Amino acid sequence: MQQTYDIIVVGAGHAGCEAAAAAANMGSKVLLITMNMQNIAQMSCNPAMGGIAKGQIVREIDALGGYSGIVSDKSAIQFKMLNRSKGPAMWSPRTQNDRMLFAALWREMLEQTPNVDFWQDMVRELIISKDGKRVEGVVTGLGVSFYSKAVVLTNGTFLNGIIHIGEKQLGGGRTGEAASHGITEQLVQLGFESGRMKTGTPPRVDGRSLDYSKMELQPGDDVLDKFSYLPGTSPFINGEKKQIPCHATYTNQKVHDILKTGFEKSPMFQGRIQGLGPRYCPSIEDKITRFSERERHQLFVEPEGWNTVEIYVNGFSTSLPEEVQYKAMQLIPGFENAKMFRPGYAIEYDYFPPTQLKLTLETHLVEHLYFAGQINGTTGYEEAACQGLMAGINAHLKVQEKAPLILNRYEAYIGVLIDDLVTKGTDEPYRMFTSRAEYRLLLRQDNADIRLTPMAFEMGLAKQERMERVKAKIEKANHVIDYFKNTSGEPEVLNPYLESIGSSPLTQKWRYFNVLSRPNISINDLAKTDTQIQNLIADVDKETIEQAEILMKYEGYIQREKENADKLRRLEELKINPDFNYDTITSLGREAIEKLKKFKPATIGQASRISGINPADVNVLLIHMGR
Ligand SMILES: Cc1cc2nc3c(=O)[nH]c(=O)nc-3n(C[C@H](O)[C@H](O)[C@H](O)COP(=O)(O)OP(=O)(O)OC[C@H]3O[C@@H](n4cnc5c(N)ncnc54)[C@H](O)[C@@H]3O)c2cc1C
Repeated sequence: MQQTYDIIVVGAGHAGCEAAAAAANMGSKVLLITMNMQNIAQMSCNPAMGGIAKGQIVREIDALGGYSGIVSDKSAIQFKMLNRSKGPAMWSPRTQNDRMLFAALWREMLEQTPNVDFWQDMVRELIISKDGKRVEGVVTGLGVSFYSKAVVLTNGTFLNGIIHIGEKQLGGGRTGEAASHGITEQLVQLGFESGRMKTGTPPRVDGRSLDYSKMELQPGDDVLDKFSYLPGTSPFINGEKKQIPCHATYTNQKVHDILKTGFEKSPMFQGRIQGLGPRYCPSIEDKITRFSERERHQLFVEPEGWNTVEIYVNGFSTSLPEEVQYKAMQLIPGFENAKMFRPGYAIEYDYFPPTQLKLTLETHLVEHLYFAGQINGTTGYEEAACQGLMAGINAHLKVQEKAPLILNRYEAYIGVLIDDLVTKGTDEPYRMFTSRAEYRLLLRQDNADIRLTPMAFEMGLAKQERMERVKAKIEKANHVIDYFKNTSGEPEVLNPYLESIGSSPLTQKWRYFNVLSRPNISINDLAKTDTQIQNLIADVDKETIEQAEILMKYEGYIQREKENADKLRRLEELKINPDFNYDTITSLGREAIEKLKKFKPATIGQASRISGINPADVNVLLIHMGR
């Protein structure tokens, strides 16, 4: 047994898998320790990846050389681009996934990654240097000690996890899996602050017992797309497979009445659950209480995979007694004869307020110790995966004594997420929304590769093939844009098309750029009528055409957002020494000094976002630094 590694990753959930892959691909010797190797990259809750703002994160992970996008594409049973009818900043890719295939593919990819070793066991304790300042390894339940230069903790919902179903309480990190004890207690002793959060999951049912004729069909998109910027990852685009549809149905008053009979045994309403749950993913009992005026709630009936009859009842998350769940479900249209495979449940677990972290996800208190995923108070696979990726990258860079990779708020949703966590903290499970990003027109799903792949390539994480594809995309898009800006279309060629869509005809030659700026006109539509454009894009792929079109149609807005981002960039470039003594600035208020000492902002930009730090405090800091 090799017992010394560069980096140990604890936990093989979404965060742990990305952390291990990133650090190993950059050249670190990695040990991935997880409780159960059969459950690597388990989707604990819904069998889906992406969605609004989360889809952008998956594309960013892919652009940086992470695996989540590839695995999601290859295990997809359905693809949708959400919000297509809105502006491009809102387009959000989402896949419905085969849960078992997703996990199997992740394991396969990790097993094929050189430099990753595995150990199935439960980590019970961290090995900390004598002065208490640095992590040096871990001790497992089997009593094995492993040593390393850095440790990434990604324990998910497992730290002192308690599962609730009605009045029943079971220790566990996920249904059928043990909780992890010891780590929280040790970290608290070292001076860390911990808290409690909760989340929940719906029952799973037998698809053979459902009547789909009573539900609405929810097919995948006709215009196919995928997460990964690499070719060949989608079985639908390849033509290998056809998508499986989902269905929608609704609760009703009778369902609500039955659910209410379980309230007196509800762990949530009777105060047995102390932790706060995800605001935007409430349980069905929470929904019928908080929105009591609503007569029904929509449910999505989602297949769990290609080769299983198991169905995930999205929207029906609950921790009511299982017999109440079962009875209520029988009154949902299409569920009259539903057989339940497993009841829904809630889980409470420990997390560590993320204000205890640096922007690299390393802890302030213990050097070379990193936290990523649900342990930081987030919820969601995508949020966890991107933190894992960044923790893996930064742990590797730290071990190699290289400069860290910190993504700014104007560079990536990942930057927004980490900055929000570290700078503002969270007291309820944090999930990403497009509204959290100030520069969302810059942070689109279509340009994540252009934004991030060059950085990943420079660090040795993204491969040559990825970089070549990005370069080609930029060059070809620029070529199309130049052509549109410098070439004009003829009225006699374009007018029949313009008139057919109710757009006013041209009276003279007009630059294609101006024609395209009209609503409802696309490059592909122009190509159908104009052979000049047809020839121009003959060899240009769909993604590049889309890129060129967005850059032209939204040129003014994008430019304005870039100018605003530049202002923030200037503040972000003003670094603050981590050992800076704020007590020496007499003109700073007491609250500002306390906050700055607690959060230890890395830049003036980060300092300006700490709640309680006002513009006057920022000016004082700027004047002081100027001096
Ligand atoms: C019941 C339930 C419902 C959920 N509902 C939602 C939802 O509605 N919406 C949503 O977005 N997200 C939901 N989630 C959260 C989602 O599953 C997580 O956000 C995501 O999986 C977190 O990823 P992670 O990598 O941080 O942790 P996890 O995926 O939880 O993985 C943690 C890993 O660490 C391992 N591990 C833990 N402790 C140790 C140890 N001491 N030693 C070795 N290995 C260890 C575990 O075995 C596991 O492999 C839910 C989770 C659960 C359990």
